Amino acid sequence: MTYLDANATTPPDPRVVEAMIPFLTLHFGNASASHAAGRKARRAVEAARSQVATAIQARPDEIVFTSGATESINSVLLFAQQQWPARPLLIISTVEHAAVIEGALRWEQCGGRVKRVPVDTNGLVRLDALKAALEPGQTALVSMIWANNETGVVSPMSEIVALAHEAGALVHADAVQMVGKLPVDVDAMPVDYLSLSAHKMHGVKGCGALFVSRRVPFSALLIGGGQEFGRRSGTENVPGIVALGKAAELAGEVSTHDLAVLRDEFERYLIVGWPGAVIHGGSSDRLPNTTSICLPGVDSAAMLILLDQRCIACSGGSACHTSLLHPSHVLEAMGFDAKHASSTLRFSLSRMNTRDEVMAAAAEVIRTARHILEQRDALSSPVEFT
Ligand code: PLP
Repeated sequence: MTYLDANATTPPDPRVVEAMIPFLTLHFGNASASHAAGRKARRAVEAARSQVATAIQARPDEIVFTSGATESINSVLLFAQQQWPARPLLIISTVEHAAVIEGALRWEQCGGRVKRVPVDTNGLVRLDALKAALEPGQTALVSMIWANNETGVVSPMSEIVALAHEAGALVHADAVQMVGKLPVDVDAMPVDYLSLSAHKMHGVKGCGALFVSRRVPFSALLIGGGQEFGRRSGTENVPGIVALGKAAELAGEVSTHDLAVLRDEFERYLIVGWPGAVIHGGSSDRLPNTTSICLPGVDSAAMLILLDQRCIACSGGSACHTSLLHPSHVLEAMGFDAKHASSTLRFSLSRMNTRDEVMAAAAEVIRTARHILEQRDALSSPVEFT
């Protein structure tokens, strides 16, 4: 299989699997236990905390391990609303992941207000609209996706942070698609909270982290045994955490440049092969691995089935949407209509892909699209009865 769906999930790096296996077999101790097996697990968790902190230039005590980014995001939103009742406003963008969208709906159900800042046709958050939305003294939190999972468009995070802080609001960055693909430095980019996920960076599913800046408060969503220094109760997923630590260490190895060169070559092939093709966010800063492309006239649902049969894994938007026949809210927010969205495919590469397989996939995509068009034309031509 040629796997081009890394924004949905990445294949675990074999070195990550190798690092975690001993913690599924030999070193199974509970990290809270005081005996040798427990101490071994504790040391591994703390080593992983340092690895994750180093990957984003944070301090180890600013990292809280969670079950994934959905939990990290939920924790921040619920905490902020509870902590600052006198500041009822939450600001998000119109191109967030479902975890933030649903979290914002709950914020409203609990009596808060939410403003959703639009993006432009390139998928960039409109800073003028953000500035107008911010109500100093009323805004508890600005939660923004740092790099978009569907288009790869990278948000103007320094401007977002500066505007939010000027208005006295804190910032949560959904950095799930950033970490491991582009450098993240929370010292240089002073976000207050940041969510990341292991399975998007060649770790394993069911593990993630929340960065909480030492400058800001936080209290646990999950309470009980007081693990994670009281910030997230529940017995630690030691193998998953070890895997996340290793994945974070390896993230530094990724050559953003090489990935971008390959992605650009892939895109050029598609653009030449399909006149009228549109790359979403093509003129914005984008992740080096993501191509969201509209092939006008081609039904992406049919493409997904045929490409799957031809052993190419990609997606028709965000993975969370594939079971729903609803146009992507991200493309809608960028001003594209349902017809355009229904001809859109997302390809997301990773460091595990080779040039040969990626370019062979590009050729197969064009072949498949032509095949669909030929079939459609054959069906619509009049049948002559004799
Ligand atoms: N945020 C973004 C931008 C994502 O792409 C995803 C996963 O698709 C999430 C949040 C949720 O991450 P997790 O799968 O770790 O819960």
